Amino acid sequence: MTTTPERTARRPLVLELHEGDRTMAGLLGGKGAGLAEMSRLGLPVPPGFIVTTEACRAWLSGGGEPDGLWEQIEAAMLDLEQRSGLRFGDPDAPLLVSVRSGARFSMPGMMETVLDVGMTDSVAAALVDRGEDRFAWDSYRRLVQMYGRTVLGVDGTLFDEQLTRLRQETGAATDAELDAAALERLTGVFRRIFQERTGEDLPQDPREQLRRAVVAVFASWNGERARLYRAHEGIPDDLGTAVNVVQMVFGNRGDRSGSGVCFTRDPVSGAPGVFGDYLPNAQGEDVVSGSRSPMDLSELGRREPALHEELSVHLRTLEQHYRDLCDVEFTVERGRLWILQTRLGKRSPAAAFRIAVELVDEGVIDLDEALTRVDGTQLQTLLHPTFTTEEGLTPLAHGLAASPGAAYGQLVFDSATAMAWTALGRQVVLARPETSPDDFGGLLAARAVITSRGGLTSHAAVVARGLGRTCVTGVEGLLVDPVARMATLPGGVSLPEGIVVSVDGTRGEVYAGQRDIEPSPVSTAISQGVSHSPDRTVRAVLTLLAHADLRRQLGVMANAETPEEARAARCFGAEGIGLCRTEHMLLGARRVLVERLVTDDDREGALAEIEALALTEFTALLEAMEGLPVVVRLLDPPMHEFLPDLVELSVTAALADERGTLDAALERRLSTTRRWHESNPMLGLRGVRLLTVLPQVIDAQVRALVEATITLRAAGHDVRPELMVPLVADVAELTAARERMEGIVADVASAHDTSLHLPIGVMVELPRAALTAAALAEHADFFSFGTNDLTQTTWGMSRDDAEANFLAAYREAGILATDPFKTLDEAGVGALVELAARDGRRARPGLGLGACGEHAGDPASIGFFARTGLDYLSCSPPRIPVVRLEAGRQAVLLAGAATSDTR
Ligand code: ADP
Ligand code: MG
Ligand code: MG
Repeated sequence: MTTTPERTARRPLVLELHEGDRTMAGLLGGKGAGLAEMSRLGLPVPPGFIVTTEACRAWLSGGGEPDGLWEQIEAAMLDLEQRSGLRFGDPDAPLLVSVRSGARFSMPGMMETVLDVGMTDSVAAALVDRGEDRFAWDSYRRLVQMYGRTVLGVDGTLFDEQLTRLRQETGAATDAELDAAALERLTGVFRRIFQERTGEDLPQDPREQLRRAVVAVFASWNGERARLYRAHEGIPDDLGTAVNVVQMVFGNRGDRSGSGVCFTRDPVSGAPGVFGDYLPNAQGEDVVSGSRSPMDLSELGRREPALHEELSVHLRTLEQHYRDLCDVEFTVERGRLWILQTRLGKRSPAAAFRIAVELVDEGVIDLDEALTRVDGTQLQTLLHPTFTTEEGLTPLAHGLAASPGAAYGQLVFDSATAMAWTALGRQVVLARPETSPDDFGGLLAARAVITSRGGLTSHAAVVARGLGRTCVTGVEGLLVDPVARMATLPGGVSLPEGIVVSVDGTRGEVYAGQRDIEPSPVSTAISQGVSHSPDRTVRAVLTLLAHADLRRQLGVMANAETPEEARAARCFGAEGIGLCRTEHMLLGARRVLVERLVTDDDREGALAEIEALALTEFTALLEAMEGLPVVVRLLDPPMHEFLPDLVELSVTAALADERGTLDAALERRLSTTRRWHESNPMLGLRGVRLLTVLPQVIDAQVRALVEATITLRAAGHDVRPELMVPLVADVAELTAARERMEGIVADVASAHDTSLHLPIGVMVELPRAALTAAALAEHADFFSFGTNDLTQTTWGMSRDDAEANFLAAYREAGILATDPFKTLDEAGVGALVELAARDGRRARPGLGLGACGEHAGDPASIGFFARTGLDYLSCSPPRIPVVRLEAGRQAVLLAGAATSDTR
């Protein structure tokens, strides 16, 4: 036989454990790399070898087993026999092995493992002869079971049923109580099951067992569970799995044997000290499967103090080495400890913060690294209040967890009642079929909102998340009757107005009565501005937030309209208001002002009222934000949300006409509504277009802002207003508005014998604005990317319609992996943002760049904004700590990427 040079030059398909290390997860899989690293560290890992992911990829590509694979496995087996002093298939000194899957990225429980490979009739008989009958049959039945299921595809429940039946027959409470005779019988039953199903018996040649087990592990990469998991986690489909072949060690070899899983710290609280479960006389899978309840690791300490100490030493070694929380599988065989697996441990958000900061205290990592070990999404969950746990409580109704949090209150069915009751000092929960922009006041007043319709991006959900209100949408079977002031649930439950309910927005559940609530200590500490706390998690969050503030390049501003929101935003660390949506000042009862504004003979009065209102509101807002910038966006009311519904109004008018009660006021209302009715409101008279049609609005709003500013400054206040023009598509729209604004500023200032400069920016929220950014930049002091509208107009889909009609189908069909209205679509919308940022800055160096809207507060989108070099993000007040933290983290990651690039 000749070997081509090409073949000898190829990388080996099999590596022994000591030949690998932790950096080789791509080739060896995460589990293999961990095993290799632990052998290097001198930890007691049973000897073994790894069939590489490359071998698996070759097999997956359809070419069968790659050339030389079995020869290499044979050679590695010989070596393994030498190291262990045992022989594969030898009844006198049998070597058994585990054949374990393990991919580059952890896919827990998604692929297959076959244990006890090498067990045969003659090996079992010899073990029985030596008095180890229970161990022999327990191991044998496990092999038959796993081989049957994994290699031959026999339905695993058939085996489980037999096991359950046998326990019942023998009166054994757990598998551990089954004696040797019972297990021998079980082995026979299992073998018959798979013979009947497959016509095959378990091969008595251990090498045949091994070969088929290896191929079965390769094949498990494409098992249904594994494929679904990868799709969900975004793990590429072509990586393949490694196969770890390791000498079996036996936790099922009597009372001084056992298996456990442990962590180097508590993964729930983050508290230091080893933490875990131990199950005597059991193999590892018994711990994970939950078939018997394990004991606390400390119990092992009492029974076997020396072992416990040895384990603790290894855990410390691992944690020092990996510089992070490790998760470890171990087995004790007749008093001897073996480590079978390690990986970075999954942890709760609270533990993530605490562990990161305590590792800094211990000198293991620095603050930059600690910051990269947590993220904004984790902080988000720590900011929400929660219900204290109560056993045995069943919810009244289930829905979608639309906005996390926990709240209770008296049920009300319309926003007016919500606001009125709140004004009386009551706590309310607003229940609606669905919400509309008119419900803003109610959403603001209520502690929680539940809706019978709508998904996770419905109006109620989006607004509630923005406001940090608890919200459950799509509550199954909830019928709300605002007129009868009554809601009903399936099963005849009726909920009259005023009844108290509790809403769990984190789980999407509604409960009867008032549940106890714990405010989030993290949120309290941040908003009180304390810098120390006895609570370890709180302390850790404060430490990492402070560090994030040092590192971040992005400023963090708030979207806010009221002084209360502004104050809350300041407490959370906002550096200004990046977006004041002035149309919010015209919601609720004031909505009619917009209607009057577009009614010809009522316009002057409406403008005067709008100006007076704006003066009061701007004054309060500027004062609350003293010393910090406040970006006031000119009026941008979606007309259809402010005008009456045309159909409803037509019907009312027709009825009135029939009854002879149609008056001039109603007629005029109808004609105005008809005049301004739009068939595509999303693309209609919005933003600067309204300001172009009715430029008097600019005058009223700018005059109010300038008057407020001059008065406050005269009284010694340091107020810093800025102006912003919405929904610009063409530079001429901007220059016209700008000229008008500057004229008013100059007029009002000179009337007060003073001068004033207000920076004027433009919202970039239409593709045409982004494409003509260079021209816009010549007339704008800053850009604020309105990524909500930019997403709608780039995709050409209205968010409400998409959410109602097809977004779910798109996600199911795999066309959309994420919701573009929640997480910025970098490829499309992001490309426009990058283009506009680049062209804008080229045309005007020093041009300010910001983003506002949902994406600015979405942790998953902040990395993009940081990379694009924006100056600031503006988000809803409750999101501010999240954005501060994530912006800091992204800055550290970017700096790291930059240094590794130049290296
Ligand atoms: P998973 O990836 O699902 O954790 P593993 O490959 O770790 O699967 O194996 C499943 C179980 O078998 C684990 O509990 C593990 O501890 C146990 N196990 C794996 N290899 C051995 C071995 N060589 N000796 C004893 N038990 C083993
Ligand atoms: Mg494992
Ligand atoms: Mg907009």
